[in-house]
Amino acid sequence: MPRLRIQVQGVVQGVGFRPFVYRLARELRLGGWVQNRPEGIRIEVQGPASAQEDFLHRLLSEAPRAAAITAIRSEVLPEVEAAPFEILTSESRGDRLPSIPADLAICPDCEREILDPKARRFRYPFTNCTACGPRYSIIAALPYDRPRTAMAAFPLCPECRREFENPRDRRFHAQPVACPRCGPRLGFSGPGGELEAEAGEALAAGVALLQRGGILALKGLGGFQFLVDAGSQPAVQWLRDRKGRAEKPFAVMFPDRAALGAACEVDAAALVVLEGPAAPILLLPRREGAAIAPAVAPENPDLGAFLPSTPLHRLLLDSFGGPLVCTSGNRSEEPMVIGNAEALARLGDIADGFLHHDRPVLRPLDDSVGRMEGGVLRLLRRARGFAPLPLALEGPSVLALGGHTKGSVTLLAGGQAVVSQHLGDLDSPQGLALLDSTVADLLAFLEANPQRIACDLHPDYGSTHAAAALARRLTLPLSRVQHHHAHVAAVMAEHGLDGPVLGLAWDGSGWGPDGTVWGGEALVVDGSGFRRVGHLRPFPLPGGERAVREPRRSALGLCLACLGTVGPAADAFTLDEVALLSQMVARSLNTPLTSSIGRLFDAVASLVGLRSRSDFEGQAAMALEFQARRGRGAGTYPILLRSGQADPTLLLEALAEDLRRGAAPSAMAFRFHAALADLALAFAQAAGLEQVVLSGGCFQNQLLSELCEARLGQGGFQVFRPALYPANDGALSLGQAWVASRLFMER
Ligand SMILES: [Zn+2]
Ligand SMILES: [Zn+2]
Repeated sequence: MPRLRIQVQGVVQGVGFRPFVYRLARELRLGGWVQNRPEGIRIEVQGPASAQEDFLHRLLSEAPRAAAITAIRSEVLPEVEAAPFEILTSESRGDRLPSIPADLAICPDCEREILDPKARRFRYPFTNCTACGPRYSIIAALPYDRPRTAMAAFPLCPECRREFENPRDRRFHAQPVACPRCGPRLGFSGPGGELEAEAGEALAAGVALLQRGGILALKGLGGFQFLVDAGSQPAVQWLRDRKGRAEKPFAVMFPDRAALGAACEVDAAALVVLEGPAAPILLLPRREGAAIAPAVAPENPDLGAFLPSTPLHRLLLDSFGGPLVCTSGNRSEEPMVIGNAEALARLGDIADGFLHHDRPVLRPLDDSVGRMEGGVLRLLRRARGFAPLPLALEGPSVLALGGHTKGSVTLLAGGQAVVSQHLGDLDSPQGLALLDSTVADLLAFLEANPQRIACDLHPDYGSTHAAAALARRLTLPLSRVQHHHAHVAAVMAEHGLDGPVLGLAWDGSGWGPDGTVWGGEALVVDGSGFRRVGHLRPFPLPGGERAVREPRRSALGLCLACLGTVGPAADAFTLDEVALLSQMVARSLNTPLTSSIGRLFDAVASLVGLRSRSDFEGQAAMALEFQARRGRGAGTYPILLRSGQADPTLLLEALAEDLRRGAAPSAMAFRFHAALADLALAFAQAAGLEQVVLSGGCFQNQLLSELCEARLGQGGFQVFRPALYPANDGALSLGQAWVASRLFMER
């Protein structure tokens, strides 16, 4: 009877893998042991060859749903004296796990349990097991053991302890295990903070508030959220008014898959993701006549939809019986509020009531947001369920602080890059404090000593200031990485590319080393360096940043630059405004030049008559994409690439002609998208490199991405796109870390 040593790597810790191995080995009557080690999980089994074969097979096919095995190796060892299979304590330093587990959505077993009137956890909102429950959101320090989590203050009752200590129980070593006797408790408070109900009655009070059309502040897994009845126009509008959020879409949580499927088009691949351990929000096509209030996502054919990911949400949705708007509990662009007292102080004038509990949330964690494209999940916001799972990446250790909006921190160390959750914007003191605490957390969790700090080239980003201060404090070199270089590098990191690649980095804006605002770049990236081989012809942006909120300003600047006249851009202004802005452009007063494709989108959206002003970033481009989806097959506009410069003059002339002829906005919108895909191909042909990377905020646009990918594919190019790390600034820190680490290696 030979003995087999099996080495398993990937996400295998904190997901119930060891108890699973134990039960499997016992069932197959194999001897040996399983152990957590720094590099993953090690197993030794001894027994008949057929049983060993079964074991290996079932190890892969029946692994816990949250486990993700990236490598499995086995070797034959000499036989030793037979002994029953056991779980060995983790190897010394072995509990210094190389990966920090991500939070896991409620599993089917726990879901059944909380709905079973005979179970002792019937309707208990903090039920969890080794396959589900809070992880990253409750971890104070590693190793991941209960005393170092937010559950430290809840001593196990005898029954929970029995489950925790029994290797045959699915709660064996489930660190946050709890029950109504020993675990956290719900409370309901009015807007003034007075406690009105506890436990089951608190949940009922929250549901009653929602049924009255009120705004409920719910302490969820990663902080407070605002909930309102998604079917009630007055309730949703009430939330918009109170929160000061005019048009940006809200996400909707549905009680179950049937309710979700009635409101949105959802296929099998999307369901797997929605019901999987990460359970993100997915942007799905909305069905005609869905019973969702218009104010949820105005003028948007898609809906951000998701399913309850915690028992608390599950029970709440169950009792309410319909879809609920579920959005971050914060003020404007600040991070989510996580503490009870802070919630009362900061959210008291928005919420009509608070459904809270006594389990601390240790760090804010938003819901992740993604979209399915041909069965592939592409994340737009990477947070709950995904962060901080590692990406395999070799290189000297670097700490990178990301951008200014959609912030994130990346720590590259020990053969992996750990990218933090989405941190939001860094405009507020709270946002900057979150950046600092996230840096401190990652450094402590991974016991890393980075050799270099990285940040953006922009001198005024909050993350740039923080990085400079950190580099001084730790006396480390600071690498300032150009914005679009980092965008391309993030995709290279995700797909394991070394370069040279042609990167098309198209977004709203990033600091260009030449003093202009970049955003329509063709960069050849090879190792730590890049070469700008092409870009959109720069055009003036009267008022600079103000143009982001006023797409009509981009239209005016573009027309003046390309047509020599305000032309069709004049329609969105008064005569006085046209005169004033034309003067600004002529004298270059507060009028930076930009090569941004994002601003080109704004300009065209304004010219087509869709939006001359935006309530939130990207709104005009989204409106143009939605129109273009209806104009598929409408042809294209000409766009000229000469000496690396893409000149939209012919495009504008053709568009102006279409406007004169009264062409349909959907046709014009589609032709514009198709022209950009033609441009992508022209850039690729000019660069002559086989691998092309698409990145930057513009590639959140699904139609643009698909058209570019198809066009490049027809041209024989191999296309790489962001998937689990967003196309937007959320992945800048990953790209910065990649570039800075290469820089270090090349020195
Ligand atoms: Zn469970
Ligand atoms: Zn208990």
